[in-house]
Amino acid sequence: MNDESCADFLDRIVYLLDNELDAGEIREVKLHLDECAPCLERYDVQRTIKTIVARSCHEAAPDDLRQRVIVQLRQISVQISDS
Ligand SMILES: [Zn+2]
Repeated sequence: MNDESCADFLDRIVYLLDNELDAGEIREVKLHLDECAPCLERYDVQRTIKTIVARSCHEAAPDDLRQRVIVQLRQISVQISDS
């Protein structure tokens, strides 16, 4: 696993969720997600955040919910940098 490419993929994961990638890039990112558990986990977290944001698009996300998501994100980052 190559940290530099994972940092690169993190941006593309966000773009993927925003549907801003072309078909070739989508395939590349999905291939990487298949092989890279930390990136897959980040993808799941990003997707969860997007779902929460989409659900509450007419009202602000409750503060405690937002805090929990942030805490979860930090924990995952710690796990990734420890491994
Ligand atoms: Zn990765």
